[in-house]
Amino acid sequence: MPHYKIAIIGAGPAGYFTAQALQNSQSDDLTFSIDMFERLPTMWGLVRSGVAPDHPKIKSVSKVFEKVASEPNFRLFGNIEIGSDLDIEEICPRYDAVVMCTGSSLGKTLGIPGEDLPGSISAADFVPWYNGHPDYAGVEVPLDGDTAVVIGAGNVAMDCARMLALEPSELDPTDTASHALAALHESKIRKVFIMGRRGPEHAAFTAPELRELPKLEHTDVLIDSESVHAAHERAAAAGEIEKHLASNLEAWRLIAESLQEGHERVMEFRFLSTPKEIKGNGKVEEIIFGINEIKDGKVVETGETYSVKTNLVISAIGYYALPIKGISFRDGKVENDNGRVLGTNIYTVGWAKRGPSGVIGTNKSDASDVVKLLIEDLDPEPKNGGDIAVVLPRDKTIVDQAAWTKINAAEVAAGEALGKPRLKEVDIAKLISLGQ
Ligand code: NAP
Repeated sequence: MPHYKIAIIGAGPAGYFTAQALQNSQSDDLTFSIDMFERLPTMWGLVRSGVAPDHPKIKSVSKVFEKVASEPNFRLFGNIEIGSDLDIEEICPRYDAVVMCTGSSLGKTLGIPGEDLPGSISAADFVPWYNGHPDYAGVEVPLDGDTAVVIGAGNVAMDCARMLALEPSELDPTDTASHALAALHESKIRKVFIMGRRGPEHAAFTAPELRELPKLEHTDVLIDSESVHAAHERAAAAGEIEKHLASNLEAWRLIAESLQEGHERVMEFRFLSTPKEIKGNGKVEEIIFGINEIKDGKVVETGETYSVKTNLVISAIGYYALPIKGISFRDGKVENDNGRVLGTNIYTVGWAKRGPSGVIGTNKSDASDVVKLLIEDLDPEPKNGGDIAVVLPRDKTIVDQAAWTKINAAEVAAGEALGKPRLKEVDIAKLISLGQ
């Protein structure tokens, strides 16, 4: 019975769903050993460091990941970075296939003057800051002004805006990182703008996320009803309205019609606004937007501008992948053909393959499609390249599944005492020691 060895690089949703697809493809004639490598001592990728803390239900998929990891054919090599601790050239000959599930961790930039001023940060830094990713615990987030501006009309922008606009006590029973929770309790921000460069009908927010906004207990959510009305008219004029757009337009209407309670905390959507320049003396003080209009279905500039005084600008306009030594990247993704890295035994799944799109579950079908191709490509005779153990770095503590289980349990136990789902540790050395 052929038995193949597969390496998965990255312990996020794409990685676990790939392992699950491999496990589900096993039969009497085909079996796999799966080795998963992860650069951090903590697992679950965006489920841990991306999903907003006030959306705990989305994180319950981690139970599926742990079930996958508990199978006897699964080994975990956490705290091992590919490209520095171990090269891809050392991995490929030892496995029948290697699947890159390394995501996209760098934030796209606006490319406008003033973007580098302190106080202008990317969601790619802000989100892992509030989620306790060890590399981002020191990100400077100025919360001493009364207004914040979030750029982008997607779900990441919405998460960032909610985190800034919620009453911080609502975050106390969540797994928000302690440093972020303390800072948010001290935050002076009361008004958060979310800015889209096109119209509400073009926004990438999804309806469930929009529909929860009028239910926020301590935050008023505003959108000018005229802009919602205009979006409805434009969408209707453009032809049949697709289901997801109809659902979004209805959600916008509910937001526009929701009762304003006079809360001190306000989240306001503004559309047809393109960021042009960030101004300030040594730090962000103001951001200038160009006003757009929609003519013949196209977004065009009017030439007019307006400014918003703020000292915090967060750009949530998409991501691209951090290059890894030995892997070819193009357009912010692993260079691939439907998940195959041509001419190699390397494959890719998730954001590293298709760019930053879709929800967590999208990676499940993505993984299953790529695993089918991987199986088609397998040589009849499995490779016999020896075990990876011989090339693992001797100076690094490997966080295996038993160690990760201890880290996870320790965080959950520490959180329990405080009424939280977990208390995240952000120091790498302490995380490793929790696993020993
Ligand atoms: P996204 O959905 O692609 O949205 C990016 C937004 O940035 C778009 O509104 C885009 O506008 C805007 N943008 C791009 N370049 C810009 C520029 N130069 N100036 C101004 N605006 C610009 O990306 P995302 O929000 O990062 O989300 C990534 C994926 O994760 C999405 O599939 C999202 O649904 C998913 N996600 C899901 C959840 C959830 O389910 N709760 C939470 C977070 C993320 P244009 O359309 O005009 O280009």
